[in-house]
Amino acid sequence: MKILKPGRKQKGWATRATCTGNGNGGGGCGAKLLVEEGDLFQTSSHHYDGSSEYYVTFRCKHCGVDTDITNYHGHRTLPKKPPRKPQTTQQMPQNGTFAFTVECQGSPWDVHYFEKDGKKGTLAFREREGKFEIGVFKAGELPLGEVLKELQSAVPV
Ligand SMILES: [Zn+2]
Repeated sequence: MKILKPGRKQKGWATRATCTGNGNGGGGCGAKLLVEEGDLFQTSSHHYDGSSEYYVTFRCKHCGVDTDITNYHGHRTLPKKPPRKPQTTQQMPQNGTFAFTVECQGSPWDVHYFEKDGKKGTLAFREREGKFEIGVFKAGELPLGEVLKELQSAVPV
């Protein structure tokens, strides 16, 4: 085949949608979104009679609520629903530097010095069963003795 005159580029399917939470318990924020194929995933509900219904769903970038759409005409096999990001109350600092390890209450704690918004701080944490437990989270670069004192008062035996 020879192309005599190139056509327009294939851009994939896209639609305008409003974040409503439709089909997912409502609660959308009302944001107007341009939803593209890559934003979509498949959700399903299973009934007692063994049948399943499938929905095409997007997750709002603004508020994280899922909304079902009914006008998907693309051809992609859509991925399954992505897991929600785990909510952590205190994020591990990304740019912390490892300072030392201190032993307290029978386990080692990793102590990091970090800088956040121009302020220096100290973070001590241990990993237990795959979960991070924070023992010290304070402003300033605390020396080992101080960290140990903090840990002993902060961590229940
Ligand atoms: Zn939203």
